[in-house]
Amino acid sequence: MHEMSVAQNIIDIVLQHLPDQNAHTVKSVNVKIGKMAGIVPDSLEFSFRVIAADTPCMIDAELKMQLVPLIIRCNGCTKETNIDDPVFMCPGCNSADVTVLSGTELQVSEIEIEDTT
Ligand SMILES: [Zn+2]
Repeated sequence: MHEMSVAQNIIDIVLQHLPDQNAHTVKSVNVKIGKMAGIVPDSLEFSFRVIAADTPCMIDAELKMQLVPLIIRCNGCTKETNIDDPVFMCPGCNSADVTVLSGTELQVSEIEIEDTT
């Protein structure tokens, strides 16, 4: 499952930012998920829980997912459009010469850490 490796990546990133895994626990992890990132939120949540259960400092960590809309900008008429389907065409002038502004990202945006002591 694709989401399993994504969840593993997220947890790896969190652990890299954790100063001391024995002295801190992770309360929550915020991730930004683009609509076009190819992630199914429920699957990611499930995978995250499976891996977090084996990671002592992350057992209680909450995964907060922020879904980022897919936005394109037309290079012809500069119109910006929030599109629902991956049809990369400007609805204003029907040009296919567009730039994707957001919607493909998958990134850890915030990690909340708590002292265990
Ligand atoms: Zn246009």
